[in-house]
Amino acid sequence: MMSPTKTALIAVSLLCTFTATTALAQTPVWTNQRSINQISEHVYRFGATQNAMFIVTPAGIVLVDGSCDNMQWLKGELKQRFNLPVKYAVMSHDHQSHICDMDVFADTAVGIAHVNMLPHVLREKRKTIIPQVLFEDRMEIELGGIKVALIHLGPTHSDNMIYVHVPADGVMFAPDFGRGRNILPDFRDLDIHNALKALGTLERWPDVRIVLEGHDKFTQTQQQAFGEFRRYLQAVRDRVLERIVAGKSLSEIRKEVTMADFKEFNQSPERVLVHVDTTFDYLWRYREPTIGGPQVPVRAPRD
Ligand SMILES: [Zn+2]
Repeated sequence: MMSPTKTALIAVSLLCTFTATTALAQTPVWTNQRSINQISEHVYRFGATQNAMFIVTPAGIVLVDGSCDNMQWLKGELKQRFNLPVKYAVMSHDHQSHICDMDVFADTAVGIAHVNMLPHVLREKRKTIIPQVLFEDRMEIELGGIKVALIHLGPTHSDNMIYVHVPADGVMFAPDFGRGRNILPDFRDLDIHNALKALGTLERWPDVRIVLEGHDKFTQTQQQAFGEFRRYLQAVRDRVLERIVAGKSLSEIRKEVTMADFKEFNQSPERVLVHVDTTFDYLWRYREPTIGGPQVPVRAPRD
């Protein structure tokens, strides 16, 4: 096991040249059938109900994330279409469905992940490749002349989430984070304050033309996807915090914070309740009341 490094560089091949990226003329759209969809010159999305991706270079393939029960199929497809080995298996974050069955590629690939990921993989017995290369803030892979930047912006969606940027193609892969108006079901595994900061950073990240999320059936063609999520998250956070400070109970806050003015976002009233509950939970840990205040988290009755 390599020890964690602040910045690691893997330079595999500088010899191959590549042509400038030309964006595909149309935004590809896919269904729940498992498929491979090219989204830029070197980058392909694959999966069924979720999105993962791979980057094809003259010296091999960089795989990013997995897909349950689809990896043997993918292996056959990669062999048939490109006849190139998968050299690196990069994991976006530890959640099982996003890294499923990546061990299928352990015969040729080195697993790479954020350093915080390993304890989750081992503790939860994730069905995936064990990451052999771990990094903290940034890491850059260079394979066949293509650079792939792995970016950690602190704890956001999990404590080990990374964003995968292919600058030459202008692609940013941000599963569960570049979601636009399709907000996460809950904020349980989300560092809300740092997520707000990271969403702002990603919205301004240079060389991004296409944002690939983990669940949408198309690519977000603008970084606005990060801004939309930030707008909603900021509003929930501010509304819940304001009411906690005013001494309101969670039951009262649940009735008042309905997010009715965010109707165009993909929300159900039940999902908004979970957003309020998980935000309340987060803010309960964040602040210390001046007078009184519950010493244990107060949750609304589940009836
Ligand atoms: Zn996730």
